Amino acid sequence: MSNIEKLVNAKGFQFALSMDCEGTNFDKNLENNTKNLERLLRLNSKNNIYTILFITPYFADMLSKLNLVEKIKDFKVIFGLHVHPDNLPDEIKCHLDFIKDDEELLTAYSYEEQKEIIKYSMDYLHHKGITPIEIFRGGYFSMDDDTSKALIELTDIKYESHNIYREQYKVTKNILTPVPVYAFNNNEELRLEYFTTEKLVQMLAQAIKDNKKALGITHSYLLDPEDFHYKRDNITKDIHFRLKELIKVIKLYKQAIEPIENIKLKS
Ligand SMILES: [Zn+2]
Repeated sequence: MSNIEKLVNAKGFQFALSMDCEGTNFDKNLENNTKNLERLLRLNSKNNIYTILFITPYFADMLSKLNLVEKIKDFKVIFGLHVHPDNLPDEIKCHLDFIKDDEELLTAYSYEEQKEIIKYSMDYLHHKGITPIEIFRGGYFSMDDDTSKALIELTDIKYESHNIYREQYKVTKNILTPVPVYAFNNNEELRLEYFTTEKLVQMLAQAIKDNKKALGITHSYLLDPEDFHYKRDNITKDIHFRLKELIKVIKLYKQAIEPIENIKLKS
């Protein structure tokens, strides 16, 4: 069974963290942030938690430059493709003469165009050693039925992950299996850098109470605690600290609640 299948098929409450690994559009310190990735992966792996990395071509390039591609495969990671069509390296862009520099959404493009964008992005990630790629997430959660069709035709990807309440997510037929971000609506989602730590813990507790899968989300441009986003967006504790707080709650659950749930399941 592949890692993504193990995660999707696990019963009851589960926590996993997804990270959009962005390119130069959001990340002005790509190298510093990428250098802090292992630390976060180690924390999750040590606690038996999967991290799903949704990787853009620019981020793949930085991983490769820093010789991190093979290293991070030792952790509990799942690789996904992440695409912002307005932020593609020249090696990809030179094949796509239809790209508009100011168009941020994948679904603004036709089926044939999306197919080309996905093909060259997948090839690029594979070339950098990012394999296997098992899941897809569009930039700004942009995805429609054409995206699913293109992914099915071109790749082995069978899963996609989005906040399904966002207007940019336009899928009507679940050709791919959705692994959604844990969210109550379009902005209340289990996003590490949103809200206070207390609010995040509350959301997680709700998932435990409802026996649901809680897929969190965060962004690579926050990996470095010194990154300018912290000051700019007034985020008080870094994502490593916030993750540790959630893990404390998960540990309590594992010790106190899960054993009782298991007894219930057996009887
Ligand atoms: Zn993104």
